[in-house]
Amino acid sequence: MKILPLIILLIFAPIAYCSDLPDLGDVSQESLSPLQERQIGQQSLMQIKASKQYYDDPEVNDYLNEIGDKLVQYSNEPSLNFEFFAVNDNTVNAFAMPGGFIGVNTGLLLITENESELASVLGHEISHVTQHHMARMVSATKGDTMASMAAIALAILAARSNPDIAQAAVAGTGAHLMQKQLNFTREHEQEADRLGLDLMEKAGFDPHAMPEFLELLQKSTRLIDGNAPNYMRTHPITSDRIADIENRVSKLPYHLLPDSLDFDFVRTKLIGLQKTPKNAIRYFNDALTTHKFGNQLAQRYGLVSSLLRDNQIERAKNELAILLKQAKAIPAAQDNAMLTTLQARVKRAAKDPDTLAFYRTAVQNFPQSRALVYEYTDLLINSNQADAAVKLLTDQVTQHPMDTTLYDLEARAYHQLHNSLEQHRAQAYSMAWQGNLPDAIMQLEIAKREGGSFYQLSIIESDLRELREMQSEQEDGKKKKKK
Ligand SMILES: [Zn+2]
Repeated sequence: MKILPLIILLIFAPIAYCSDLPDLGDVSQESLSPLQERQIGQQSLMQIKASKQYYDDPEVNDYLNEIGDKLVQYSNEPSLNFEFFAVNDNTVNAFAMPGGFIGVNTGLLLITENESELASVLGHEISHVTQHHMARMVSATKGDTMASMAAIALAILAARSNPDIAQAAVAGTGAHLMQKQLNFTREHEQEADRLGLDLMEKAGFDPHAMPEFLELLQKSTRLIDGNAPNYMRTHPITSDRIADIENRVSKLPYHLLPDSLDFDFVRTKLIGLQKTPKNAIRYFNDALTTHKFGNQLAQRYGLVSSLLRDNQIERAKNELAILLKQAKAIPAAQDNAMLTTLQARVKRAAKDPDTLAFYRTAVQNFPQSRALVYEYTDLLINSNQADAAVKLLTDQVTQHPMDTTLYDLEARAYHQLHNSLEQHRAQAYSMAWQGNLPDAIMQLEIAKREGGSFYQLSIIESDLRELREMQSEQEDGKKKKKK
């Protein structure tokens, strides 16, 4: 039986065992505690999910976490549980929220020319988090009318990310006023650059990519004239800033390292998904026949994916065969989760009787791949093997407690097993992490009515209390207008 109360998920582990939980309401201390930072970050992420801007692609997000974690391990907070995620927005931006939540716009992923450029942005954002820049600004700006965590979360979100995401939500609230004061100072930017450079170097990326990328951003701004990318609005790029980085970097050797296959696959995937399936097929065909745009393997990966989207299964199989043959010559491609996932998808689309077994082995080989876990458990449920699905999902949920897709799959599996209590509880967690508190509360109430053990019911009770508190706090935050 799965017993993983939401309260433990919402509140950072060590403190979750205390009986008197920290107040989610007023923030009265001088500066924010790590727990409060984490809660603010979580609430911001919930808002992003509620706004539907979260780019729900497990392969893209797994990739961002892989690169991010490479950098985080050299930071001064290597044990902080960072979460990197993509935001469906074609403007060039990345942003950090307190507690280790870092969003990267698809527009930024598409404009980066190599993996080190991406690492330079992530290293900078990680350093804003580990230096607690946002927490310090919040402490410095909060007045007596600005108090609730939910309001702070909204203000930070509005200041950091694409304003469209949060603007509507903060309009007319105290958060709106606070948001304007939450701009990083020049000192913050320089500190984040310096520490970010250090992380890049230690993790083996090319630090020269940082000034190069900033210059690229500055140039593209001049071209667009007065229409600065969001990144430059939230992290002002001054000539001083670039000069400072260039000065530091000039003393460092170049690391000429090839991009990972995943970098090319992820970008190819994003490029393909920007187009209709037919246009994407044309684009990758053209790239392959004229040998332009770099990596052949990635282009064929893009072609096979687009053929699948267009339901051209036979052609997809043929192109996949060529792709796998080419991949044999490339050592990095021997052990690649995205390539294995593509193979599995082609098998599934072709209704190959071997599909389920192929997925099972693939999940064993790549237990960290959420795409494989999603697709395998979906297949298990469809083949009436909900027990096996629940086993795998329970394990995954402990690793990714905010992953709503895992809860959705769990709810389906429990439904098949006629376990209504767990089904509605899983639905409640999915709703909660999508920022939909009213529906989450409703699902928990249904779960409670189903009845269960004393232990199960007491967990549901405490989750309900927690969610109701958060809900009333959010409503307070909205009502609280600046005098
Ligand atoms: Zn910055």
